[in-house]
Amino acid sequence: MIKKKRLFLNSIFQWTLVFLLNQIGLSKKIHAKNKPKVVVLGAGFGGASCVNYLSNFTDLIDLIVVDKNRWIKTCPFSNLVIGNLLDESKITFKPRFNKNVKFVVNELKFIDADKKEILFVDELSLDYDFLIMAPGIGYKKKQIQGYSIDDNENIPHCWDGENKISYFKKSLDSLENNCKVIISCPDYPYRCPPAPYERASMIASFLKNKKNKFKILIFDSKNSFTKKNIFFKEWKKLYGDSIEWISRKKGGLINRLEKNRVINNDGEKIDGDFIHIIPEQSAGKIIFDSKLCNGDWCKINPQTFQLLNFKDIYVVGDSIDAGDMPKSAFSAESQAKILSLNLVNRILEKAYLDPVFLNTCYSFSSYDRAFSITSWYRLNSNNDRIVSLGSSQSSEDGLLNERLRESKEAYGWYESITKALYG
Ligand SMILES: Cc1cc2nc3c(=O)[nH]c(=O)nc-3n(C[C@H](O)[C@H](O)[C@H](O)COP(=O)(O)OP(=O)(O)OC[C@H]3O[C@@H](n4cnc5c(N)ncnc54)[C@H](O)[C@@H]3O)c2cc1C
Repeated sequence: MIKKKRLFLNSIFQWTLVFLLNQIGLSKKIHAKNKPKVVVLGAGFGGASCVNYLSNFTDLIDLIVVDKNRWIKTCPFSNLVIGNLLDESKITFKPRFNKNVKFVVNELKFIDADKKEILFVDELSLDYDFLIMAPGIGYKKKQIQGYSIDDNENIPHCWDGENKISYFKKSLDSLENNCKVIISCPDYPYRCPPAPYERASMIASFLKNKKNKFKILIFDSKNSFTKKNIFFKEWKKLYGDSIEWISRKKGGLINRLEKNRVINNDGEKIDGDFIHIIPEQSAGKIIFDSKLCNGDWCKINPQTFQLLNFKDIYVVGDSIDAGDMPKSAFSAESQAKILSLNLVNRILEKAYLDPVFLNTCYSFSSYDRAFSITSWYRLNSNNDRIVSLGSSQSSEDGLLNERLRESKEAYGWYESITKALYG
């Protein structure tokens, strides 16, 4: 399987390289006088990956990227920061894009799709020929009763790279011996399916290192989760019986939050010292504010990533309904490659590529133990949905060497993607 995976990866790599070299040559010959203006919203994984690919074509296009933050704090590896295994500075980047790319730090308020113009909160505006949106996730209006993402009394969710990790850790640090931590996990789809369980592992690691006795109860709105058996074995091995998972059918669905208590679907009241609600999610807020989407997630053409009914607006990353693909940084990068290459094809009036996608999700159970699942994807026969071609997963009884090797691979992946995107 590993050999097959490597062959597949090699062929994707070679195919992309040949394509890029061909197109760069072609775009240099074109030297358009009125270059189309491509605006990328979001310098997170989806947006920055598009910028990374499209910056090879600045002879052909004007490229502008907009983000409300000058410094990008990534969600990948943020759980390790929570676990006190990594410093927050290691997941914080000041993007250094190619010199031909303009980086605008400002917050978008509205997208006027008819006028092909974006408006910023400070009333400035910017027009575009093509808009690529990668605003990540937003949060549903309807959350667990009694819980609001804006209520500072609640433990911050830390699910979007905003600046709350230190407060989260301070609250964890204030927990006393024999404390009880409650985590409430949403139903699919949400950003990074294994992340809640990795977070539980990292909270356990934090408390174990403090030599605290603790119990972590994960109340889940689902009846199963990705890499479940591996997580169970890792938890047992590293943290004994300290982490307990409660499935939806066994009372895992939380209906209500009161100060230090949650109430589940069976009416059972459970008290906790640290209650961490992972909120229900949707596409980025700007998409709804601009009335570009009716459901929770954007419907796109998965060959081009054009937003349905808006031919000059593209969406990539967590905001889209990506069929079988999970919402991850790895997926966003893989989608961004196809989006960018096919946007160039559109501009050059060439045929679109038939996409293949890849995703690998690594999870850590402790500093030097990681495991993964890798999946391959392409389009269904109607070309309207991304479907899985299969996957391979780490072994359930991974020995120290295997877990250590995968932890090194995970660090390697993170270092290489952040270096490629942010310089
Ligand atoms: C705890 C956790 C751990 C994770 N670990 C992994 C992992 O190990 N591997 C993995 O592959 N994935 C992981 N993920 C998932 C990963 O973070 C996301 O899938 C990825 O960030 C999606 O990229 P994106 O471009 O869609 O969104 P983002 O990376 O969130 O980027 C969105 C950007 O848009 C900007 N933006 C939004 N609205 C506006 C606006 N109105 N104006 C201006 N700018 C705006 C934001 O500032 C942000 O920079 C993890 C997620 C979490 C929560």
